[in-house]
Formats: sequence, C-alpha cells, structure tokens
Amino acid sequence: MTVLHVPDGSDFSLVCDGCGMTVHHLGASLHNWDLVWSLFRRHGWIGVRSSCGPHGCPRCTLRAGLVADQ
Ligand SMILES: [Zn+2]
Repeated sequence: MTVLHVPDGSDFSLVCDGCGMTVHHLGASLHNWDLVWSLFRRHGWIGVRSSCGPHGCPRCTLRAGLVADQ
C-alpha cells in the first residue's frame, strides 16, 4: 500500500513502503497523482508510476543502495 485516500476522495497521502514515512495532504495541495509523483521523483523518491506502489523515500533509497533511473 502506498497511497492512502481519505473516504471522500478529496485528499491522499504518499507512504514509503520501506520506512512508513507518510507525506500527508498531497491531494489537497497538488490534486492529482501524476503531478505528485513527477515532483517526488525529482526529490529522490523511487518506485513505479502507478499509485499502487511500491515507492521508496530518499532515505530508504540510500539505505538500500538503489539509484533512481534518471
Ligand atoms: Zn522510507
């Protein structure tokens, strides 16, 4: 599970599958997943394009020795 939706669908949060770090209120500020993910990829998050995940935060990326495909 990577993206948590609120029941009314107006907001969602991104959850790191490695450490559980959660970034809240993305839907409220950025409105759609594609925009959120393109932004987070640029900030070091890795994972698949699908909101179903898995996704990893920059901290977990470093710990796992993985590199983002840029
Ligand atoms: Zn993490």
